[in-house]
Amino acid sequence: MKLVDTHAHIYINDFRDDINDVVIRAKQKGISAILMPAIDASTHPAMLQTEEAFPELCISMMGLHPCSVKDDYQTELSVVQGHLSKRKFVAIGEIGLDFYWDISFKIQQYDAFQRQIEWALHYDLPIVIHSRNSTDECLKVVQNNQDGRLKGVFHCFSGTTDQALKIMEAGFYLGIGGVLTYKNSGLDKVMEQIDLNSVLLETDAPYLAPVPFRGKRNESSYITNVTEKLAEIKRTSVEEIANITTRNAEKLFGV
Ligand SMILES: [Zn+2]
Repeated sequence: MKLVDTHAHIYINDFRDDINDVVIRAKQKGISAILMPAIDASTHPAMLQTEEAFPELCISMMGLHPCSVKDDYQTELSVVQGHLSKRKFVAIGEIGLDFYWDISFKIQQYDAFQRQIEWALHYDLPIVIHSRNSTDECLKVVQNNQDGRLKGVFHCFSGTTDQALKIMEAGFYLGIGGVLTYKNSGLDKVMEQIDLNSVLLETDAPYLAPVPFRGKRNESSYITNVTEKLAEIKRTSVEEIANITTRNAEKLFGV
């Protein structure tokens, strides 16, 4: 069985002491690639070092996270632009809008999102969207930019069936992780109606660990708990879920 963790921040401090074990456990579960979303200039070096340490498994994205869009976001964006001009990345991410933590930089968040979408189109890269409390707003931005070439994923999707269908209509994937295993998330009911051809698996490690690890540090190997839950909801085998979602990840990211 082959799996891809399409979203894991395994380069941040939470993994400093046991990253080797985390990587070994991921490989033991059949994970063939871990895609690492960028956050900002303060963590780009750690991400690139992790990729260098585990080139057979860990692959970097590049981008500016909406929660890191502050007064200095123009400087942050030029750092991202510098990296993009130097080498190839698997995606531009994570980018988007976050209206949960702080809405005082809303205009700047929109600007950073738009500019990074334009770079994605320029470099022909998929985008990985963070859309906390802003799914409809992010969808609107995607629709406005969709000229048939824009591609990507709404990472950590936890919206309604209607939103899921609109995302798929826009040609985008749904990134599904630990939230699927949470009681009362309602995501199980949504997923019942969603075509697996539009689904990617992710952990969002170290956040949002699936049951039975909820509340603990999340890691890539826990993706099997999400895979099992999705198999149960779709009344199919774990192997089938792995096959389809891995094929989707390979198609979108070219991994
Ligand atoms: Zn993330």
